[in-house]
Amino acid sequence: MGKGTDTSRIVAACTECGTVYAALRLPDGEIQPIGSRNGCGSCGETEFIPLPQFSDDSGPLKADDD
Ligand SMILES: [Zn+2]
Repeated sequence: MGKGTDTSRIVAACTECGTVYAALRLPDGEIQPIGSRNGCGSCGETEFIPLPQFSDDSGPLKADDD
């Protein structure tokens, strides 16, 4: 198995305003927030920084579900 064929589920933060999203890392390295394909829902930025994984799915992230 090589590189660049998997889409990984990650946590990423907007480089502009710091909003944290559950995101997908695409095989080409692009980071796409889940549910916000057009970029950050707060500021429109399209660059995101991958964050270290939190333990399992019980991390400190707040689900902003509405
Ligand atoms: Zn933002």
